[in-house]
Amino acid sequence: MPDVHALLSASSSKQWLHCPPSVRLQEGFPNESSVYAEEGTFCHSVCEYKVRKYLKERVKRPQSEEFYTEEIDQITDVYYEFVVGVIEEMKRNGCEPLVLVEERVDYSHIAPSGFGTADMLIVGRDADGKGVLHIIDFKAGAGIYVEVDHNSQLSLYALGGLHAYGYIYPIETIRMSIVQPRLDNVNTFECSREELEAWGESIKPIAKMAFEGKGEQNPGEWCRFCRAKPVCKACAKEALSLCREEFLDLDAGALSEDPRASPDELSDLEAPYQADTTTPVFKQPGLIPMTELAGILPTLNRISSWIEAVFAYVTSEAVNHAVPVPGYKVVEGRSKRVFTDTKAVVDTAVANGYTDLYKQQLITLTEFEKMMGKKRFNELLGEYVAKPPGKLALVPESDPRPPVDLNNAPDQEFAVLTDSGEE
Ligand code: SF4
Repeated sequence: MPDVHALLSASSSKQWLHCPPSVRLQEGFPNESSVYAEEGTFCHSVCEYKVRKYLKERVKRPQSEEFYTEEIDQITDVYYEFVVGVIEEMKRNGCEPLVLVEERVDYSHIAPSGFGTADMLIVGRDADGKGVLHIIDFKAGAGIYVEVDHNSQLSLYALGGLHAYGYIYPIETIRMSIVQPRLDNVNTFECSREELEAWGESIKPIAKMAFEGKGEQNPGEWCRFCRAKPVCKACAKEALSLCREEFLDLDAGALSEDPRASPDELSDLEAPYQADTTTPVFKQPGLIPMTELAGILPTLNRISSWIEAVFAYVTSEAVNHAVPVPGYKVVEGRSKRVFTDTKAVVDTAVANGYTDLYKQQLITLTEFEKMMGKKRFNELLGEYVAKPPGKLALVPESDPRPPVDLNNAPDQEFAVLTDSGEE
């Protein structure tokens, strides 16, 4: 995957479409890679390898001691099988599709300097013989459920694809698919070419504003990956005002003055608790009903994400760049003991009569499958394979997964809700 990203990248389009000035505001902040992003890049390279191999191209299998696991093999297989299914179906529809892997698309006619890389771009025909442009995107993440319906990232890729191939092929229908195996999210959205092009026209003014750094800051769930978030005034204002207005009343309760006589004139029962008067209290004593809690959940999730971002930013500035943070200092955390020379450890232990130094482990399900082949594996061990139900989690109603029948669900611990409604 290329490392170069457009200023108005398709992957951040949800952010700049909702908050146009964010693109320029975050410019001064480095785009630091995370272990999740690196794992995602590795997964994409495995996906690319599997599809190119199916297309009979000469490719080398990507290697990574750090990231390769049997689970990655499984989730990239889900993507591979989906892609191959789309290609084979077009072939059954009587056409030899145009299949482009990791295709760079240019949508600068919509968003200034806009370009990106589509995981898969396929042009072919549907069962009725109509021309189809199909964009397929792999998502390795397990945190945010990526909605395919009117997905702006895939729509921009599709506009780029149309720009490049729309005049050669009679494309009438646009299909966009997200394959996000870790969340069982394999979904396709379909629209007409006209609908997509109309959407492209509609966002041109916003894209221009974003490119020029104009418009209003507008906090929302799209702030998640904004690099300006820790220092964004709009985010801080939103988070703090919710705390002040909805939960905490700095001028009431423990901080308010009793209109009656001084505490000396009150009985023990009436005398106000001499609490730390700098601590804000809940506006109305009592319990918050579930309906109110549910109403503020989306904002609470955003606040929690903003708090995390502020801590991460300040910590990184202090630890990585030695920026002084008034009232704080950098210290060493706890560490675990480790062997410095494993061979010497084994030699010494054996020389002193100790045995049983190693553990034996059964190879994994995927390793068995690889060793035996899928067919033989199913014949011999298929009856011993089960797929346990996934962990229960509370998610927003908009999530497309069907609700669990809790009366018949096995007992489980709950999973913590996050801003995407996922664990
Ligand atoms: S963090 Fe601030 S600048 Fe970034 S998207 Fe949110 S509101 Fe806009």
